[in-house]
Amino acid sequence: MDREKWSESSKRSFAYYGSSMTCYENISYRCTKCSQPSVFTAEEQKIAYEIRKEYIWKIKTLCSVCHSNLELLRKKDKQFQEEWAKNKGALKADYKFLCAWLEILEDVPSYGKKAHFSMINMLTRLAHECV
Ligand SMILES: [Zn+2]
Repeated sequence: MDREKWSESSKRSFAYYGSSMTCYENISYRCTKCSQPSVFTAEEQKIAYEIRKEYIWKIKTLCSVCHSNLELLRKKDKQFQEEWAKNKGALKADYKFLCAWLEILEDVPSYGKKAHFSMINMLTRLAHECV
């Protein structure tokens, strides 16, 4: 464990100045999505906190399968956003596009993440106007 490699916000936390821990320990947890028992390994923690500079109190809540599914959803959401920004006029009336995007947005909260309500409401309204 090399605390000096932590992010600035991690260095302001109790874990930096108050903890006597000298190495990472495997942390067992249960995935909040599929309830599979999972382990956040010491090695993964080192990478997360020292290389990716994640906040030290940020712990994992999803297993690796659910985590990559969520990443995929976010990637698709981003693609929809980009298409939307380019072609809003036509896509507003594209029922298939609206429903496909809605499906993604409505799936996100099942992973314990916050839903994008304003977007969901807008897309739902537009989809209703199509039919
Ligand atoms: Zn899972």
